[in-house]
Amino acid sequence: MVAVVVVSHSRALARAAVALAAEMAPTARIEIAAGLDEKTLGTDATAIRSALAAADDGSGVVVLMDLGSAVLSAELALEMVDDELRSRVLLCPAPLVEGLVAAAVAAASGAGRDEVAREAIAGLAGKQAQLGEAPAPAQPAPAQPAPARPGAAQPAPAGEFGAVATVRVGNPHGLHARPAARLVTEARRLDAGVEVRNRTTGSGWVPATSLSRVATLGALRGHEIDVRASGPRARQAVDEIVAVAARQFDETPPELEKIGEWGGDDPVDVGKLDGATTGVRRGQPASAGIGLGPAWRRSSTSPDLPDEPSRGADAEWRRVTDAVAAVRREIDKIWEGNPEASIFDAHLLLLDDAELLGEARRRIDAGAAAPPAFRGAAGLIAADFDALEDPYLRGRGDDVHAVADQVLRAMLGIAERTPAGDGVLVAADLTPAEAATLDPVRVKGVLLAFGSATSHGAILARTRGIPMVVGAGPAVLSVPPGAAVALDGSTGEFAVNPPGDVLTRFRERAASRSARARAAGSRAHQPAVTADGVRIEVAANIGSLADATAAAEHGADLAGLVRTEFLFLDRAAAPGADEQFATYRQLAAALGGRRITLRTLDVGGDKPLRYAPAPHEQNPFLGVRGIRHSLAHPALFAEQLLAIARVARETPVSVMFPMVSTVAEIVAARRMLDDALARTGPAAGLRVGIMVEVPAAALRAAAFTPYVDFVSVGTNDLTQYTLAAERGNAAVPADGLDPAVLRLVGGICRRAGVPVAVCGELAGDEAAVPLLTALGVRELSVAPPAVPLVKEAVRATRLDLAGPLAERALELADAADVRRLSVQSGR
Ligand code: PEP
Ligand code: MG
Repeated sequence: MVAVVVVSHSRALARAAVALAAEMAPTARIEIAAGLDEKTLGTDATAIRSALAAADDGSGVVVLMDLGSAVLSAELALEMVDDELRSRVLLCPAPLVEGLVAAAVAAASGAGRDEVAREAIAGLAGKQAQLGEAPAPAQPAPAQPAPARPGAAQPAPAGEFGAVATVRVGNPHGLHARPAARLVTEARRLDAGVEVRNRTTGSGWVPATSLSRVATLGALRGHEIDVRASGPRARQAVDEIVAVAARQFDETPPELEKIGEWGGDDPVDVGKLDGATTGVRRGQPASAGIGLGPAWRRSSTSPDLPDEPSRGADAEWRRVTDAVAAVRREIDKIWEGNPEASIFDAHLLLLDDAELLGEARRRIDAGAAAPPAFRGAAGLIAADFDALEDPYLRGRGDDVHAVADQVLRAMLGIAERTPAGDGVLVAADLTPAEAATLDPVRVKGVLLAFGSATSHGAILARTRGIPMVVGAGPAVLSVPPGAAVALDGSTGEFAVNPPGDVLTRFRERAASRSARARAAGSRAHQPAVTADGVRIEVAANIGSLADATAAAEHGADLAGLVRTEFLFLDRAAAPGADEQFATYRQLAAALGGRRITLRTLDVGGDKPLRYAPAPHEQNPFLGVRGIRHSLAHPALFAEQLLAIARVARETPVSVMFPMVSTVAEIVAARRMLDDALARTGPAAGLRVGIMVEVPAAALRAAAFTPYVDFVSVGTNDLTQYTLAAERGNAAVPADGLDPAVLRLVGGICRRAGVPVAVCGELAGDEAAVPLLTALGVRELSVAPPAVPLVKEAVRATRLDLAGPLAERALELADAADVRRLSVQSGR
């Protein structure tokens, strides 16, 4: 039986369409290649290729596609299959829903491939006849490459347009990226050949489905825009666009107000936020300290393109689609959980822009390699913006460059480098790679619109002693460069262009913090002993050689966690055992021979490894992470264990395995460690431990005792898994002081039978110190700059008093109550 393959940007849409078709033709064979995953919109040539292979039984396959890049991806997939299969496949230009129903019925009744395609194309006939329109001729398209610029639809003759209207632009900055994106989204949704032109400037008609074309209309506030649409839904389409224009393209009042609001001499109107008379707003605290300075935004640096020849049009086009899909996932990640992040709508639409992709495709077909083809195509689109008169709209060309640079970096495997700036960095979010490149001397603070306090970007900011506030809201992205910003990374408060008295308060806090830090610093090299005489090791979390030096300076007793990923990420190939050995040895030397706790590679989740990629995962945090990744890549793991075994013969070393959830994993890891030791000879001072970051391991701590010398609790992950709150997701902030997490920590201490450390961010939280130590934790491993203050917090603790405090904390309702209790009892 002829099969049908449905290619759609949306998996939900494809499933629903297939369900509808199955109602009429339950026996039809239909395969789906839709969405990048359950929720992410997009099309993927590799998935389409698999669907083609699954659909093919030799009788023929008809492919139905939805919009724009679905066609490009289907064509690419067709180029990826063998000649025989290709000859049986027909890409059909029929409308997806009506076409699918008609095709399913025809196929189920035994029609041949071409007849199925003809039926699909004629699928609109019933509707057209009912609405009094001539049916389209039923000519299936041959399976051949797309036209050079598939989105560059030529305006149809005026007579074909069933409905027209004129709307006036009311948005303060005209049809800039966000309202334009809203219009394009609506036009794409309506699928009615909508076109628009700027009547005021007398521009030509452009397809309303192309963001790049719409934005180049140069439509300013007060301009009149003509809208026209064709096809059976023409009237509905025009009416809906008129309605959306009347709502100012759903640009919400706060957004409208905030544009251009920042940077004046007056403090920001804080509305319902705290400090209504002071202009102080509140985000979430992420890295303690006061940051004061002029705002600066990072401007993305364009990557240098290698001078390389094309590896063939198919291969080059695949590089484009892979990179676009990767960037889409990155943006989706910010978008998810931040429903107000509509600022990225324009970026997402650009990734799908048929003009941009079509032009890149044309250049690749003409023999260019993917990077120059994509940059050239983006340059062409951006040039349209550059020609506009309005400076604001002209600036939207930056969006095109930013997205293009992001795609090029993904294509070339180059990490984003945040160029240095002086003052407070204001950004949407911060990746670990970016945080690692910030200069703590010049960067006085970081203010993020989104982000979360336990993301690896935030951890790096803390490690580097850079004050940071996250979750400040998208309005901060309108703060102009140079505006004065004050923030308190311990409370989450921030202000833009604060009035004098507010600035003074921030300065006073900075001064009192420095005084406290100085006092703590003067005792930092002495041991931390509680007021009732119990020694607590205060260790440092290390992610670079510089951190090791800082840890020694700040008086760390040892390195309680070396995140060895820093050696592995953002490079094209893994470091060999020699390179690792040399680096671990340097770390130990920088720490003056103090013990270093080397955590084996903890990648996966939000730290993908380019040269040992995990397959695309629906839930990477529940996937091949940490020890699972290492056991799945035994050669990589063996190399690291060899380096660790070698360095352990020279200097005190602990090795610990991350994300362990079963005894079988530690048994397998220990076996591999034994193999490494068999090659190097024994290492007398080597201690072996696991990180307890998964509730399963916490609950069964005693089961691991025979295999370990210590355990270290990773409260960042333990909190995320206990509270089902992804650590990078600002929409579900979770606090490690939650009684559920504290109960697990208490249980580990009671059952582990070996010394227990905490190396998650909770260890550096002064409010947590009495509770954790009362529960039985004997080592706290924290960001290097936090070591002196944590030692002070230990000295201020009396375990005989903290014990009952912890008991009470375990019974409280939530983390906020626990925090209040701890702070009050410390006063
Ligand atoms: C943790 O999960 O608490 C931890 C220390 O590991 P990481 O933050 O590197 O995942
Ligand atoms: Mg962890």
